[in-house]
Amino acid sequence: RLRDPEQIEFHQAAAEVLHGLDDFLGSHPHFFDHGLLERLLEPERVILFRVSWVDDHGHVQVNRGYRVQMNSALGPYKGGLRFHPSVTLGTLKFLAFEQTFKNALTGLPLGGAKGGADFDPKGKSEGEVMRFCQAFASELFRHIGAETDVPAGDIGVGAREIGYLFGQHKRLSNQFSGVFTGKGPSYGGSLMRPEATGYGLAYFVERMLATRGQTLAGQRAALSGSGNVALYAAEKLLALGVQVISLSDSEGTLSLPEGLSPDLLAALVEHKHQRRGRLAAFAANHGLDFLVGQRPWRLRCDIALPCATQNELDADDAEALLANGCFCVAEGANMPCSAQAAQRFQRAGALYAPGKASNAGGVAVSGLEMSQNATHLPWSAQEVDARLRRIMEEIHEACVRHGAQPDGAVDYARGANVAAFGKVAAAMLAQGVI
Ligand code: NDP
Repeated sequence: RLRDPEQIEFHQAAAEVLHGLDDFLGSHPHFFDHGLLERLLEPERVILFRVSWVDDHGHVQVNRGYRVQMNSALGPYKGGLRFHPSVTLGTLKFLAFEQTFKNALTGLPLGGAKGGADFDPKGKSEGEVMRFCQAFASELFRHIGAETDVPAGDIGVGAREIGYLFGQHKRLSNQFSGVFTGKGPSYGGSLMRPEATGYGLAYFVERMLATRGQTLAGQRAALSGSGNVALYAAEKLLALGVQVISLSDSEGTLSLPEGLSPDLLAALVEHKHQRRGRLAAFAANHGLDFLVGQRPWRLRCDIALPCATQNELDADDAEALLANGCFCVAEGANMPCSAQAAQRFQRAGALYAPGKASNAGGVAVSGLEMSQNATHLPWSAQEVDARLRRIMEEIHEACVRHGAQPDGAVDYARGANVAAFGKVAAAMLAQGVI
């Protein structure tokens, strides 16, 4: 019986994991016992709430807020908040499901969750964003806590929003606790958390190339997105000698045939962070090509790193990338490749890593932020970066261990699914039918 057939992205994510585990489950039939698979697919708790706030014109606005607490077998619920007009319960269930396995891969004691609202921060004033965040936290605060559920950022939720959410939570709970991650370093945030997903992605790709005796230096990489993940991935890739030939946003692609320079990246970060500017305006100001309405996947590259959003790279894009010589694809975003695109890469023998492995660096450092908050001892950037690198290497090793094929190739999707599922499933079975 197919529950909630309209939740298309959730079914896509669930099918990817369950089909990927087909032969593994065949040889481990005890995982079919105790309703394990049915329980994995059903969130432990879903909270849906009204978020009412007053805009700058004195009008009342009403949005819908959510928190999907998917699975707490391995630790307190953990996962980001997304503020974007496209947010639905189905989107958040897919993200919370993926998060459960991603968090397991980090080796840290973290359950899986996701939340957010159909609020669009674009075009809102500072005051409106703050009032929305305060209204959102006024309900969410009842359901979260440092030992219960620890949200972080995601699309549309960065350091500014986490600050407002944390502030309101502190006011209501009368506690200064590690209830959110991605906090500013002045009030309990971990150094390197903003960089972690993008840097972690670069570290993971480095390991992928090493399986073929290659290095990052001199490779051409097409990136999509120009938010938290994409910009820090670009920064680390530049440091490792990669030519970054594109970034994008929902309006089009910034094409950089000669490669992004460190100076141009610094100007772009300033444009995005200080002025919340758009890529089209940046391209116009710097005399660069902006491909209106296009994604970066028709550009000639060796490596493709989709870092914007789900299903942003389809089978035709995969075909075009392969035809143009792309041999390595690692997901910075969550499920950016459609199922057909992922299959195309795998069948063509390209290196392909699913987001639950390659973008796990962000939640890994969130887990490290929780450790620092619990002990009240901050770590240096070098220490956090070293731990991040080690965790990404361990995730890569787990993918190789469980995903190595007879011909020597690595099926990263299978490896990640088997490694993560094994951990979550064992903990669920040990804790009984709950
Ligand atoms: P940001 O909000 O910082 O940036 C998102 C970027 O993606 C923007 O450039 C945005 O463009 C673009 N984008 C968003 N929606 C769409 C769309 N529908 N079509 C085209 N472009 C779009 O988010 P993050 O960088 O934090 O997140 C990006 C992805 O990475 C998401 O899938 C997220 O779940 C995933 N992720 C993030 C982690 C983190 O630590 N932040 C950790 C692990 C995964 P525009 O401004 O025009 O909307």
